[in-house]
Amino acid sequence: MQYLMENKALDIDKSFSEQVKEASGTEIGRCYQCLTCSLGCPSAFAMDYLPHQIVKMVQLGLRQPVLSSATIWVCADCQTCATRCPNEVNLVKIMDVLRETSLREGLAREHGVTDFHRIFLDNIRRWGRQHELSLIIKLKLKTRDPFSDLSAGVKMMLKGKLKLLPARFREIGKVRDIFKGAEG
Ligand code: SF4
Ligand code: SF4
Repeated sequence: MQYLMENKALDIDKSFSEQVKEASGTEIGRCYQCLTCSLGCPSAFAMDYLPHQIVKMVQLGLRQPVLSSATIWVCADCQTCATRCPNEVNLVKIMDVLRETSLREGLAREHGVTDFHRIFLDNIRRWGRQHELSLIIKLKLKTRDPFSDLSAGVKMMLKGKLKLLPARFREIGKVRDIFKGAEG
């Protein structure tokens, strides 16, 4: 693994595996590193650690490198790994827990991705559905990258794919109740 190969001092958190197990309801200790999850993962090409490596690192208590990895943000929650794992290790739930913990502890490294998640959810909370144009504008301002993808944006505008004004969902109250429930 890259982290191990860089010879960095290993900070081991012995309780990390137990915390992730409790929060995800998944028996992480059952993983016997068969690699099935990594071989079928459609996002593996963009990950810094493969899914089976993330499981191993959690088992070993490598809290910091796991929570600051790109992998947990690149995972598309597609369920392929969880469906195929012979030991019912649910990597989808594990990734959810790792993302939440990473955000809570300020360890998220992929700021563009986490900004996207926040803005996406803020829009849903506000209007009950997505408004792509404001999502793009807010993300561009937040990441201070106003000009990349500009031509694609203009083409989408011209084809009517980006609406100028957001449409509000009639049952917005119910959507906000879901957010309140999820945020405890
Ligand atoms: S498929 Fe399951 S048992 Fe195999 S490496 Fe992945 S998590 Fe571990
Ligand atoms: S849920 Fe995530 S880790 Fe699992 S196969 Fe899909 S992208 Fe890969």
